[in-house]
Amino acid sequence: MKYEAIIGLEVHVQVKTKSKMFSSCMYRYGESPNTLTDPTVLALPGTLPTINAEAVHQTVKAGMIFGCEIAAISKWDRKNYFYPDCPKNYQISQNDNPLCHGGSVEIELEGAARNVMGEHRNVKLNRIHLEEDVGKLTHFEDESLIDYNRAGVPLIEIVSEPDIHSGAEAFAYLNSLRTHLVYAGISDCDMEKGQMRCDANVSIRPVGQRELGTRVELKNLNSISGVKHGIEYEILRQQNVLEGGGAISQETRRWNAETCMTTPMRTKETAHDYRYFTDPDLMPVKISDEMKVDILSKLPEMPFVKQERFYWMYNLPYTITSVLCPEKILSDYFEEAVKFHRGPRTIANFITNDLLRMAGSMPLESVCAKISPQNLAELAKLVDDVAISKQSGKEVFNEMYETGESAEALVEKHGLRQNTDIDELKGICRGVICDNQKAVNEFLAGKDQAINVLKGQVIKATHGKANPQLVNRIIRELLSF
Ligand code: ADP
Ligand code: MG
Repeated sequence: MKYEAIIGLEVHVQVKTKSKMFSSCMYRYGESPNTLTDPTVLALPGTLPTINAEAVHQTVKAGMIFGCEIAAISKWDRKNYFYPDCPKNYQISQNDNPLCHGGSVEIELEGAARNVMGEHRNVKLNRIHLEEDVGKLTHFEDESLIDYNRAGVPLIEIVSEPDIHSGAEAFAYLNSLRTHLVYAGISDCDMEKGQMRCDANVSIRPVGQRELGTRVELKNLNSISGVKHGIEYEILRQQNVLEGGGAISQETRRWNAETCMTTPMRTKETAHDYRYFTDPDLMPVKISDEMKVDILSKLPEMPFVKQERFYWMYNLPYTITSVLCPEKILSDYFEEAVKFHRGPRTIANFITNDLLRMAGSMPLESVCAKISPQNLAELAKLVDDVAISKQSGKEVFNEMYETGESAEALVEKHGLRQNTDIDELKGICRGVICDNQKAVNEFLAGKDQAINVLKGQVIKATHGKANPQLVNRIIRELLSF
């Protein structure tokens, strides 16, 4: 029997706002536990919520980016549950009248590299709604600690249709979501900081069957690749169960990134009944056409559009644009540098090879701050003008990265300016040809690599300052009669 996988993702994203969703309490990541609270966040008696307009604005923006229908009037509901992370015993959310319906997320599939763009498709969305985050529980062996700093932070939930079919597609979907939300300034989407969290619903069905299989919800997927691996494991597990004559039970399973397995957490019998009802403390929100027009007029260029533009404008291949464009910081840095020297290919190569190699796991913001765009452009110009060799370029780059010194200064300091006096170089090449008859004869007899012996001698004679490509060209010219 052949099976196909059906996956729907529920993604929570913290909205980047100064204050919390229903109070003026500040929020910042990484502060000491329980220092960012106020009576409303802690649900002390007599407190009432007020709506954070900026969070509504950002949610509508997200809806517009993904082509959702924006509700003219949207309301708030109480999602009731009793758990220590939730001070009010209910979470204010949106149940039956969310801010955004429908829409889709464009994804780019890997391994489909073409000249301009990879292979693209749209994953359908069900909805995007706005709610408040809850506190963060940390469990230890015999106690649990709670931090209410996170409680009340604006949170959007982006729910996809069951329109994803593999771990790789889920991976592409999350990358696209993240990239678009970061570009639009809606969130930083750092999964390590819990700013983006994903639950995956996974089912399989025999190919040709119309109705969906029983789904399993995966939790604890803490990274984008964790989501991919968790889904891939779960698809295989479900196939094994069905092929062994068993049935899938609807349950929630936890992904364990260490063992690379999912294990049961709870079954449907213990699932929550949230008893949703409209929150009587909050008025519905009305989204005006003026607000939508305003948001639309301020939307920045989106990543896939930029990727295509980089191809046409700078003649950069997909292998480079697909690294630069998903990261707003990198692509902005690139365009800044190109303003100082029109050598896009050399600049892009420095960024995608050398800069990213040095970056490791450092945040891109601090990585790009190491070398100013102007300094990078200056270095690229020296390489493009063959004033220094590519190899020296790499060495200078590394030193610039460590010291912040300018390219010109380092090239002078180390005497790296290469010999580009063609006549002088020709003279040296002639000398080397006379002194190395054996290699010359081999080359003329058709052994092409014999030229390396000659090139090596010229480089040696110039103390490494001759440009290898130039030497190569001159020797071939001299030997072609
Ligand atoms: P709940 O409210 O219990 O989370 P929803 O109907 O809102 O359930 O669905 C949650 C997610 O599960 C959505 O992303 C949806 O696309 C997905 N989903 C629903 N049914 C299936 C299924 N049979 N297989 C895979 N995903 C599914
Ligand atoms: Mg769910």
